[in-house]
Amino acid sequence: MKYAEVIIDITNENVDKIFHYAIPDNLKELIFIGMRVFVPFGFGNRLREGYVIGFTNVIEIDESRIKNIYSVPDNYIIFSKTMIEIAKFMAEKYYCSLSECLQCIMPKIMKDKGEKYAIINYDKENINEIINKIISKNTQQSKVLKFLLKNDNVKTVDIQKILNVTLSPIKTLEKNEIIKIITKQVKRNVVNVENFKKTEHLNLNESQKNAFNFIIKKIEEKSTKPIVLHGVTGSGKTEVYLQLISKVLKKGKDAIMLVPEISLTPQTVERFISRFGEKVSVTHSKLSDGERFDQWKKAKDGEIKIMVGARSAIFTPFENLGIIIIDEEHESTYKSETTPKYNVKEIAEQLCILSNATLVLGSATPSIDTYYKTQINEYDLISINNRVNENMPNINIVDMRKEIESGNMSVFSRPLFEAIKENLKNNMQTILFLNRRGHSTFVSCRKCGYVMECKNCNVSYTYHSKEHKLVCHYCNSEENVPTICPSCNSKYIKYFGVGTQKIEEQIEKYFSNAKVLRMDMDTTSKKNSHQNILEDFKNHKADILIGTQMIAKGLDFPKVSLVGVIAADITLNTGDYKSSENTFQLLTQVAGRAGRANIKGNVFIQTYTPEHYSIVFAKNNDYIGFYNKEIVERKIMFYPPFSNIFFIMISGDNENNVLNAIKFLHNVMLYYNQKTNFYISDVAKAYVYKVNNQYRYKIIIRAEEETRLKNFVLYCINILKNKIDTTKLSIILNLNPNYIS
Ligand code: ADP
Ligand code: ZN
Ligand code: ZN
Repeated sequence: MKYAEVIIDITNENVDKIFHYAIPDNLKELIFIGMRVFVPFGFGNRLREGYVIGFTNVIEIDESRIKNIYSVPDNYIIFSKTMIEIAKFMAEKYYCSLSECLQCIMPKIMKDKGEKYAIINYDKENINEIINKIISKNTQQSKVLKFLLKNDNVKTVDIQKILNVTLSPIKTLEKNEIIKIITKQVKRNVVNVENFKKTEHLNLNESQKNAFNFIIKKIEEKSTKPIVLHGVTGSGKTEVYLQLISKVLKKGKDAIMLVPEISLTPQTVERFISRFGEKVSVTHSKLSDGERFDQWKKAKDGEIKIMVGARSAIFTPFENLGIIIIDEEHESTYKSETTPKYNVKEIAEQLCILSNATLVLGSATPSIDTYYKTQINEYDLISINNRVNENMPNINIVDMRKEIESGNMSVFSRPLFEAIKENLKNNMQTILFLNRRGHSTFVSCRKCGYVMECKNCNVSYTYHSKEHKLVCHYCNSEENVPTICPSCNSKYIKYFGVGTQKIEEQIEKYFSNAKVLRMDMDTTSKKNSHQNILEDFKNHKADILIGTQMIAKGLDFPKVSLVGVIAADITLNTGDYKSSENTFQLLTQVAGRAGRANIKGNVFIQTYTPEHYSIVFAKNNDYIGFYNKEIVERKIMFYPPFSNIFFIMISGDNENNVLNAIKFLHNVMLYYNQKTNFYISDVAKAYVYKVNNQYRYKIIIRAEEETRLKNFVLYCINILKNKIDTTKLSIILNLNPNYIS
């Protein structure tokens, strides 16, 4: 083939196509599909990075205008044919350029870390005579050579250190061709396997065995249907994952294990390392770009067989993928909110089809969308309905309205208060969960109702008691707490509601000898702070762990027998169509932290709406009941899975310009909708309509068919861009986003 098809690494609509380059003879042997190249581009022939996605003999433009590829920087293929297919799939599905998708798939940097090694050059003629001559003298060179005769192939830095010599004798020996200096690529380790005690397979109980066998049978039948593993919290799903992977490895295949967020699931990650040792690596956003590249390269070179990681681990370049497992598949972190706005479940499904692998989606509370697919036979379903310890926690709902009626104004209801007291007495551990950090939600005036708001964003400030400051959780700006109301000058300006800091203070006040740990965004900003807090709690250095949703997932502490949910209503009142689903999931997950070993778990859910179905079904541990009710609501309201939702937001610092543009777009949409019959909302302010002095307006469109909806929106946006100057505005498009507020 004479020409390479190259995608240029520039994000620009005009460059989003294939460019053809001729392959000069000296590169013919070095260039393969999926490699990186440098090519001259544009009038100035500036060198640009590009990726070869194919070869061809036919081109449309005049041969004389074709330029040559300049160089091939790597000696390995970055994108397998499968990954190029995945990039194309993403570009189409997530309405972005192929170049953006390729960049998303590959590591941010492509640089091996090289270390220099010295070896004796035995290829040189008369080398032994030369060596003998040198070592008969007492020089630095002779010192080096004597050492190398005994220990060939040593790092030059080590030679310097051990012999206490400079680099110069080594350089001279190299110059005289007596030794060779070679650069070896090293791949940094990001897990220290020695720190983990090796574990063996546990004997699966009947339900686990049933699930395991079901999935193995599907793998052997080469079924391409994704499999949903629905198992209650503590039912031993992770042990099933471990044994599935072990089986897949025995067939010579590789495994990708996705978890919602590495820093929040250290315990799960630990279990994989303990079981598989050096065969596993981990990738996540806290690693440096270089470290991430090394893990990527290890997978490419077949040095590891299992990658555990968050969303982006899906792009691990395994040659022979056998299984992808997505744990806690209902988590919102599996959808990227930056371009390309991909949903990793959709990519995993596609990747499994392309590589003949099996996709397993595990959860105690599968998303409504996923479970629906098991009901219409698009996915297979296998369930584990009992805990390993056969002991589901006892869930109590506490009606906070009654607490107030009877004069209890504190953040703890009487039953929860008594339970904490009892638990402390029994030397057991407690988790208190509140979906809100800081001290209180807002500071307001009791006289005139004025609420302290951030000056850049239209959200109320949150009071942080430790710093005695008002903090904006959207733009992080701070302000002092006023002593008189800025609006009416009264002195009745106070904070209301509760946050994690307030809970901590209350615990310290009422249970002064209890040791308390708090885990939220404010206490976990430092590296490893998550792990340290969890480690301390595990070692019973504290009796009570207070936290936000960070402590809701995946934790397995045997001595936790009590879980308190301070305010279940917070997730209910978000104005999002998923708020019931999110509440049910969160309550079930938090409750699932109690009584995981051989003690009975007790859970208290405090709420002002005890009759809400998401709370009632969570209490009864009734996922199916919840699903059956919710799916009817979704159908009536024409929400997913019965529709696709396109979220469009336009923002900018000039509110008039924003409104002009979005109203124009809205009219265009209404006009073309005469033929299509989509559900188009009115133009509305976003839930937080001003952030960092940017005004934000939204339109939400719902339609049954994804592709038609997408084409419709892109068509209308194009008209907008042609008719109105949108260069100072930002247009955000998000298909089936996590939140529509
Ligand atoms: P899940 O992932 O479903 O929440 P886990 O895999 O964390 O459940 O299992 C809960 C607890 O039970 C863990 O402490 C785990 O080590 C233990 N466990 C799981 N399977 C078995 C088994 N077959 N025999 C004994 N203990 C088990
Ligand atoms: Zn702000
Ligand atoms: Zn006032």
